[in-house]
Amino acid sequence: MWATLISLFLVVVFLANIKMHSTPLLSLHQATFFLAPIVIIASIGTVTSRFFKGVEVSNRALFTYLFMLEVAWLFLIWKLFENGGEMYAEHAALIGVESLIDVLVLTFAIALFPDRRVMLTAVLPLMLISFFTRLIEVPANPLFPATKLFCFLAILVTGQKVLYSWFRKAIVRDVEKQYLLKQFRRMALVDGLTNISNRRHFDEILSQEIRASERNNHPLCLILIDIDYFKRLNDSSGHQVGDECLVEVAKVLAGICHRPRDLAARYGGEEFVLLLPDTDLNGACQVAEKVKLKLAEAKLIHPDSELGSYITVSQGVCQCRESMSADEFISEADKLLYSAKSTGRDRYIGG
Ligand code: GH3
Ligand code: MG
Ligand code: MG
Repeated sequence: MWATLISLFLVVVFLANIKMHSTPLLSLHQATFFLAPIVIIASIGTVTSRFFKGVEVSNRALFTYLFMLEVAWLFLIWKLFENGGEMYAEHAALIGVESLIDVLVLTFAIALFPDRRVMLTAVLPLMLISFFTRLIEVPANPLFPATKLFCFLAILVTGQKVLYSWFRKAIVRDVEKQYLLKQFRRMALVDGLTNISNRRHFDEILSQEIRASERNNHPLCLILIDIDYFKRLNDSSGHQVGDECLVEVAKVLAGICHRPRDLAARYGGEEFVLLLPDTDLNGACQVAEKVKLKLAEAKLIHPDSELGSYITVSQGVCQCRESMSADEFISEADKLLYSAKSTGRDRYIGG
């Protein structure tokens, strides 16, 4: 886009020059004709880039476009030489052609700098024309155009290397930054052991869902879940087995939350919570029943439970009532969980 805009600007300057010059290289009519390919290609580039804004363009398409633009410029330069040759005999190289070429070399070098080979393929023909232009003008002194050619080439190649390495570093740094941000976000919202949402995430979502349920007058339920006799599992089988058990229970709970807005979270220690938007008490009790069923199917060994050989849980199922705060909602679910514990465990109580 940048090379396109410079091209269009140069076209305007070129036409203005012809208008102001007393003996221009080309007539206005000729210039308009020879500049037409540049204007057409640059206009197509401008319109296409506006039309496909945000769409990723392949390097091949980009290079082809810039190559066409350069060929259009080479066509104009050739025509300048043809006409200049007629008007100025051996001094065809005069009248700013060399300056025009220098500007084009810089334009295409910077536009194509990400690929050194493509960049050199584009700028070398221009630089050689510039070299021979000067040589034709002052044939007795080839040292000056040769020095210019080699210095330009050295500056472009080394400059490209420096720019490219900065560019690469910036991209690598950006990718690393994105990765770190993702990690931080994950660490802030996901429980490190069980890989489901943590308490912080749950608290955030809970207050949002309470507001949404008040606004839409939709039911909202919460199930507070506590593993039965978990301390005994830790004591008899060790903390590592306890941790593995927490991971498995979390997997079962996460598998039960089907709807996109359902949330399974580790509330703390061996307590979990399921948040069920748009679900009434009856629906939530069905979910609690499913938790019981799926856990029984998972057959997680508990060698020291009074309720059998496998892990069981007690659950408090609560529906949010009007103008209930998040704390009141959880404390209500906690009371129901306590009732489930005190009435024998391995059950849910709804309210
Ligand atoms: P119940 O709930 O049935 O009344 O009995 P419980 O043994 O589960 O009771 P309690 O809630 O008092 O025990 C919870 C235990 O969970 C205590 C603690 O050692 C253990 N615990 C908490 N967090 C973790 C953890 O991250 N890993 C492991 N392995 N154990 C944990
Ligand atoms: Mg507990
Ligand atoms: Mg417990």
